[in-house]
Amino acid sequence: MKPSTESTLAHRSRLRSGAVVTALFLLLFSATWSPPQASAPDRSVDGERLLEDLRILSHDSMEGRRAGTPGAERARRHLLEAFPERGLAPIRGLETQTFTFHDPLTGDATEGVNVLGMVQGTERPELFVVVTAHYDHLGVRNGDIYNGADDNASGTAALLALAEVLSEHRPAHSVLFVALDAEEIGLLGARAFVADSPVSLDSVIVNVNLDMVSRSEVDELYAAGTFHYPFLMPLIEKVAARAPIHLPTGHDSPDLPPGDDWTMASDHGAFHEVDIPFVYFGVEDHPGYHHPSDTFENITPEFYVHAVNTVLDFLGVVDREGEALLERRLGLGDAAPTGTFASAEGALP
Ligand SMILES: [Zn+2]
Repeated sequence: MKPSTESTLAHRSRLRSGAVVTALFLLLFSATWSPPQASAPDRSVDGERLLEDLRILSHDSMEGRRAGTPGAERARRHLLEAFPERGLAPIRGLETQTFTFHDPLTGDATEGVNVLGMVQGTERPELFVVVTAHYDHLGVRNGDIYNGADDNASGTAALLALAEVLSEHRPAHSVLFVALDAEEIGLLGARAFVADSPVSLDSVIVNVNLDMVSRSEVDELYAAGTFHYPFLMPLIEKVAARAPIHLPTGHDSPDLPPGDDWTMASDHGAFHEVDIPFVYFGVEDHPGYHHPSDTFENITPEFYVHAVNTVLDFLGVVDREGEALLERRLGLGDAAPTGTFASAEGALP
């Protein structure tokens, strides 16, 4: 809390001269020194609402949300109500983005629908962070509902929770929130977004993708992407140092065994394909992965809330570094060296 200048000076005028010097020194010192940021900021998501959204999106009535099915349509209806309610505005007048694909099971031409919303930045509204999460899943197979609570009702509900906080505490740069369809069929919604983006791709600072963020017995959320975009590493490290969960980097190198490199494993892959940096947040595969037991009852709620707050913290760090990140991004040519930004210590707040 900053004291009023008037009362401070009035008080000091009654002190002896030596004390005046000391007091002035203390005043200057306190004005320039701030304690190291050991803990995460106090902003946090509404945990109860987060869990309720996850419960709704993974409910049996959504029938596994397979792209092109009535279950996916029901999930989308929830999102179309929730987006404006959490303070999101359409992106350039668009609330949805539709695309056509061939259903791999039936061969039929089918419509996929991404749901779009944005929070306008206060200082550089023409620059964008794109937060993505796919809301589709596997549907019903042999009578079993694949609820996809972790994959990826968790990322979708997280997107709503993050939107709610950022629309109340608006960032300097704009943030697009995109609930993507048809990820399970091959990142189709993400590829449609990138192919027909409502904003210039050159104005996108970074893609932050959430896919499977609610289930970890060991309190561990991976942040993948720094292998390709090492200048993002100091931002992850800053958040990891104060996060309430473990936040390792990795799972993004082509040297890893098949399946362990997640570079193309979810929607961030479509952004990476067009040289947009990404950070993908997700847990390692668990027994519920692509299994009917991926249900609301089997998530780890405390970890989930902590994970989403960790992503919220990361978005704040990204927002403070927006211009520098975009410059670094646009300098990324084929022959550009990597890692120079990462080694520039002191460049971060
Ligand atoms: Zn997924």
